[in-house]
Amino acid sequence: MSQQSFSSLPLHSDLLSNLESLGYNEMTEIQAQSLPHILAGKDIIAQGKTGSGKTAAFGLGLLQKLNVKRFRVQTLILCPTRELADQVGKEIRRLARGIHNIKVLTLCGGMPFGPQIGSLEHGAHIIVGTPGRIEDHLRKATLSLDDVETLILDEADRMLDMGFQDAIDNIIDQAPKERQTLLFSATFPDQIENIAKRILIEPVSVKVESQH
Ligand code: ADP
Ligand code: MG
Repeated sequence: MSQQSFSSLPLHSDLLSNLESLGYNEMTEIQAQSLPHILAGKDIIAQGKTGSGKTAAFGLGLLQKLNVKRFRVQTLILCPTRELADQVGKEIRRLARGIHNIKVLTLCGGMPFGPQIGSLEHGAHIIVGTPGRIEDHLRKATLSLDDVETLILDEADRMLDMGFQDAIDNIIDQAPKERQTLLFSATFPDQIENIAKRILIEPVSVKVESQH
């Protein structure tokens, strides 16, 4: 549909130059619809198919507002599986390439705790993880969400299908009330409507049918 350039948005020049290096010349439909609201600090509930570019939509939003000098966990991204968390972590690192030393840490189940705890002790700006393992770290007090400003639920419908509802609720209970929350889902069953009502404040709804 409408072709829109990222440079029409209030994005740091180093993010714009990374987008250019990646060959992201135009925004995808979901990016064009959601990014202006995300950058304005709004909560979002967004529906879009696989491959529509959701990662860069939330990734650019969180990177734009990240305070790099503050070495605290400012963003938490929840994903249903390790594979998806790894993909999201990679895309965020690509978008953040060369910008100071933005530290992205991936914390997923099925991996030993020791190295994850060691990495957490070194610190991170952004954490990408699966709900079960994030909940484990909160329980062990090896992770604190006190400084989280942006909370992202990626593929929320799949996380609920996988039985992560309670883990997600526990995690959100430990995040600051004053935060920006972005919820992405391929489908919108009642369960998603319910969780959205509980965790989002006056969200902007975005729905994109087509791939791009
Ligand atoms: P989704 O999470 O919606 O399934 P992804 O965020 O994984 O989609 O993006 C799908 C693919 O599109 C990735 O390979 C990504 O690099 C690419 N992509 C994202 N945004 C753009 C863009 N604006 N221009 C070109 N390619 C893009
Ligand atoms: Mg995705």
